[in-house]
Amino acid sequence: MIELPEALTIAQQMTDELRGKRIRAGTRGNTPHKFAFYSRPPEEYEAILAGKKMGETRGHGSSIIASVDPGYVLVLGVGGERILHHQDPSTLPKKHHLLLEFSDGTFLTVTVQGWGAALLLKESEVADHNLVGPERVSPISDAFTFEHFQQLFGELKEADPRSIKFFVISDPGIWGVGNGYLQDILFRAKIHPRKRAVELSGRQRRALFKATKATLTQAVELGGRDTERDLHNCPGKYRRILDSKSVGRPCPDCARPIEKIQFLGGASYFCPGCQPV
Ligand SMILES: [Zn+2]
Repeated sequence: MIELPEALTIAQQMTDELRGKRIRAGTRGNTPHKFAFYSRPPEEYEAILAGKKMGETRGHGSSIIASVDPGYVLVLGVGGERILHHQDPSTLPKKHHLLLEFSDGTFLTVTVQGWGAALLLKESEVADHNLVGPERVSPISDAFTFEHFQQLFGELKEADPRSIKFFVISDPGIWGVGNGYLQDILFRAKIHPRKRAVELSGRQRRALFKATKATLTQAVELGGRDTERDLHNCPGKYRRILDSKSVGRPCPDCARPIEKIQFLGGASYFCPGCQPV
């Protein structure tokens, strides 16, 4: 799944590689996929995309928004898409869910893994789309201060039973963070994923804030996780501290075996010593 560091990496590469290219033809790919989400019927994609020019691409939380000039944007990266640039047709994947053919003979493909989206929207439709939403404060920006972070906690009621995992990845959510980076953020902050968000102490909030910034900044510098691919089909260089391979292995800090629990629609990994409930 693409999260903020992968979205920023791929967006920058798309700007570098694709800006100025003319789209000769664009389609919703060659294979229907139940969990590939689109915003218009196939014939509208073809009619709108033909002859348009690629503009700048930007990261938007865990989404990637590419200008298709004039007047439109492609929104990718909402879920688990593989987004690849191809120098010639020999490297096109067998199945894809969006295909752009450029007038210089290169291609862009989007292949949905699990679920994902290739939305073709007007810029004015982005903020209201339920899979995208308005611009928020990026956790790696200077505007994401500890005071801003504290305000997110201010939205919680005292009796709120929800966990810190829910707080980080769902509501209010830290923009662009999903289950992938959550594990390392909570490990670094020494907070158990099931801990109720309202019960965090001031010290724990500060630790969570610092861990969020540190983890995401490092991941952006390293081009995303080593389990994800960039526009050139190369893996990122960020190696997660905790993932499915960590279960049962010694914690890097205290050597107790890492444990796994399943809740809120995904696995959580944690150290029972460093991250007590
Ligand atoms: Zn530990």
